[in-house]
Amino acid sequence: MNQVSSPQGRIPLSGFADRLALAQLRQIFEHAPIGMALLDLDGRWLDVNAQFCRIVGYARDELLRLTFRDITASADLQADAVLLEQLLRGEIPSYQREKRYLRKDGETVWVELAVSVARDIDGAPEYLITQIVDINELKLAYETLRERELTLEAVLGALPVGVRLADAGGHIVSANLASLEIWCGGGGEMVHESVYRAWDSATGKAFEDADWPLQQVCASGRGVEAQLLDILCFDDTPKTILCSVLPIVDAGGRMFGAIEVMQDMTRWLKLEQQLMVRTRELENRNKELEQFAYVASHDLQEPLRKVSSFVQLFAKRYAGHVDETGQSYLNFAVDGARRMQLLIDDLLHYSRVSRGQGEQTPVDLERVYKALLQDLSQTIADTGAVLECGPLPVVRGEPGQMRALLQNLIGNALKYRKPGCAPHVRIGAEVDAAGIATIHVADDGIGIEPRFFERIFVIFQRLHNRAEYPGSGIGLAICKRIVENHGGRIWLDSAPGVGTTFHFTISTAGAENEAG
Ligand code: ADP
Repeated sequence: MNQVSSPQGRIPLSGFADRLALAQLRQIFEHAPIGMALLDLDGRWLDVNAQFCRIVGYARDELLRLTFRDITASADLQADAVLLEQLLRGEIPSYQREKRYLRKDGETVWVELAVSVARDIDGAPEYLITQIVDINELKLAYETLRERELTLEAVLGALPVGVRLADAGGHIVSANLASLEIWCGGGGEMVHESVYRAWDSATGKAFEDADWPLQQVCASGRGVEAQLLDILCFDDTPKTILCSVLPIVDAGGRMFGAIEVMQDMTRWLKLEQQLMVRTRELENRNKELEQFAYVASHDLQEPLRKVSSFVQLFAKRYAGHVDETGQSYLNFAVDGARRMQLLIDDLLHYSRVSRGQGEQTPVDLERVYKALLQDLSQTIADTGAVLECGPLPVVRGEPGQMRALLQNLIGNALKYRKPGCAPHVRIGAEVDAAGIATIHVADDGIGIEPRFFERIFVIFQRLHNRAEYPGSGIGLAICKRIVENHGGRIWLDSAPGVGTTFHFTISTAGAENEAG
């Protein structure tokens, strides 16, 4: 009688047909693309094919000296034993499981194992038949995928915005905590069948199923960006959400799902509204104050002029008729009235600038500078000042205010010179790519301590008394107002004893935006 060529030679065969079948079986066994092996009932390998040897990295004769337990990862032994028992007792016809073998090189390899038992004609188990597929790559890929999935879940869970993922049919497949918070207020659950109620915030139109951004994206394949919706949550709380949906496409550009991102805007919109009301109130109050300053200074002029002219008349007419003390009182009164007149003029000027009513047109700062040189010619001659001016741009501004701005800055640069030194003043400009010009006026005068940098822009704030340097302390307040009226900002660098540079920004005539 012929037998299968197993070492133990325990599988009987007879006849030519059987031998042929055996040879064919042998071929199939040997060249199968999956691992195949026969084991005795103690788990000793009786025969193994080439693919199985490749999977576990052992030579055939090495394996035939081992049992499956010798090359099974210890964590998988127990489950193997239980299933094998059940198989041999006939409780299950076969079993299939994923397990790990320990390769000869020490690496672990994941396999999909199928085990069945061959029985004799009396039904007694004779030997085990196993098929083994190497799923190591698959398993590692799956684990990597799973890790990514868990990372994504963790990211979605931690996001402060609501995120829902849907399949290509628009069915929600996952929703993060923040989206549950939006719809269910933290409790309850959100399923596809939940009743979603929403209205377009802009039009107030109630949403039909097809109006939902998610459904629109699934139908068109094109994203929907930042749509504002008024919704009624599942507990009937009204909210306003900002909703964006993007299609998720595979490498071939086929859409296989969509991601919906939503943000609860209710609180922000309420805050924005409160802010708008507050801003409007402040604007109104500011306008009232400006109006008040204007009216007050304007109306004060008239009585003051009367006081001033009569005190001067009195001083002229009765000079010599009053004693020395009376004369000095008169002088004080004349001087006070004159200063009061100057202050009111300045205040009126400041309030006119604040009201900023003039029209903004292109203003050539070089022409403004040249005109100013004429006005300042006496001071320049008296002080021996040297003024240098680089190219200046044509800006968008109110001509009168542009002139006042440069006049104040250049005037100060000449005024606050070091005693006994001829001042050197440099004026120039840089224009950035957006067309915003930064103009500077630099001097080598007495300088300013950094702690006063803010204070000097406040109306009537001065750092010197009038005997040292004349002035009323309004020039820089006016400059700040003018620059801000034109959407720019003004600042300075300075070091005491070294000099001061004032900078301000302003849009050139061709710029699209304001100088912020
Ligand atoms: P005023 O010159 O009438 O006092 P300003 O508002 O123009 O008023 O200036 C406020 C203060 O800032 C001045 O009193 C002076 O102390 C200081 N200041 C302004 N420009 C300069 C400068 N170029 N160098 C030094 N100090 C300056």
